[in-house]
Amino acid sequence: MSSILGQSEPQVFACPKCGEMINTSMAQCAYCNAPVDPQWAAWAANAQATISSAFNHANNIMLAARGMAVLLLASFFPCGGNIAAIALLAMIFVFPILILIWFSKYQWSLQGIDKNHDDLKQSRKQIMKAAIVYGATIIAWVIITALLMIVSAKA
Ligand SMILES: [Zn+2]
Repeated sequence: MSSILGQSEPQVFACPKCGEMINTSMAQCAYCNAPVDPQWAAWAANAQATISSAFNHANNIMLAARGMAVLLLASFFPCGGNIAAIALLAMIFVFPILILIWFSKYQWSLQGIDKNHDDLKQSRKQIMKAAIVYGATIIAWVIITALLMIVSAKA
């Protein structure tokens, strides 16, 4: 069953010479004919896979942040609002953990992978934006709740 992990499947990586995407089944680059060192190719394919999953996970973190903004709106609905508020509260604690996991997996433990690879830079930007959405959601929650309390106290 270990073949499911892709040992035998050719994996995609960028040719070190011309930068075109080729795979580990090739003995030489299909674009510039540079010879492919199988060991290096395996490492590069692995690096490529790590970078794409960093990118995907960064997008998921952004989705989580947007989900929090939606939960914030939903928490003020009379019906189901309490459940949304509880979910939002849970996300406030879970979100920083997601970010920590991302950094420990895709920044602090990278082996030989350039942290300034375009996709990693892009991913970090996505995480920064997600963190801004996260912060803005919490601030908005506090402000709206305070306003509602003032309004209901006057009424
Ligand atoms: Zn090439």
